[in-house]
Amino acid sequence: MMPYISLRTRGPVDILKLLVPDQWKPMPYFSQLNELEGVPVINIHIWFDRKLTTVDHLLFSRSPLLSVYADMSTTCKEYADNDKSMLELVFAPAKEWIGRSDEDIIAATMKELERLFPTEIRADQSLAKIRKSKVVKTPLSVYESRSGREAFRPSQRSPIRNFYMAGDFTKQKYLASMEGAIFSGKLAAEKIVDDFNMKGKGAPFSASSSRSPELVAASGLLAMAALGAGAAGFGLM
Ligand SMILES: Cc1cc2nc3c(=O)[nH]c(=O)nc-3n(C[C@H](O)[C@H](O)[C@H](O)COP(=O)(O)OP(=O)(O)OC[C@H]3O[C@@H](n4cnc5c(N)ncnc54)[C@H](O)[C@@H]3O)c2cc1C
Repeated sequence: MMPYISLRTRGPVDILKLLVPDQWKPMPYFSQLNELEGVPVINIHIWFDRKLTTVDHLLFSRSPLLSVYADMSTTCKEYADNDKSMLELVFAPAKEWIGRSDEDIIAATMKELERLFPTEIRADQSLAKIRKSKVVKTPLSVYESRSGREAFRPSQRSPIRNFYMAGDFTKQKYLASMEGAIFSGKLAAEKIVDDFNMKGKGAPFSASSSRSPELVAASGLLAMAALGAGAAGFGLM
């Protein structure tokens, strides 16, 4: 039986743009990726010297700077601690803050936490004290879902034979989210199976003889780059 090899790649859209081979870039399927751009996001981890009043859940906050947070010492077995809290917080919108120092960001976070935990946290740490903290900045995170961007989300089937894409930015019914990312993977798998069974429309380069050697080489290179870093699925059927 002839082996059928499908190459799938997924990753943040801004990184993918850098991996697209030059030969592919003029194709509308790949050039439309330039219309999608990631938003800056900051993730903050703070270990406190005491247990805060909290619930076993991810919480949306009423703070204009801290969108969601969770006390990992309660919600996550790996960080379980009955005596000391560890908060993980998403600091967004982060555009104005991404270039600021970690100290400035932690100070702003503590000011907001004072409002969320009025009896337990003071910005000056006169109540709960920080044992350690970590600020993780992602200048280009999930794609910005502003008006008009939907038209530029690529389908999972690319114009390159046996090359499929999955990821939250690809065309599926959700915005950038975990559900969307998973759903895009399912759609990519469906398209691979459809093409394998010849039930789908099939990729434009349906016969290997119709493909230019450059595209074949470029396809291999991109797939190898992604495979090397672990971002691609490789199916041999
Ligand atoms: C701070 C934050 C909070 C969020 N909160 C929520 C939430 O509460 N609920 C929700 O549904 N969604 C949330 N999201 C969005 C959600 O995390 C993403 O939509 C989802 O993870 C996207 O999945 P993905 O597989 O498309 O991409 P990613 O999860 O970004 O996976 C891409 C992978 O590619 C890897 N990679 C990057 N560059 C390369 C390279 N050059 N070579 C190889 N591999 C590479 C990365 O390390 C990563 O593992 C949040 C996002 C952020 C940033």
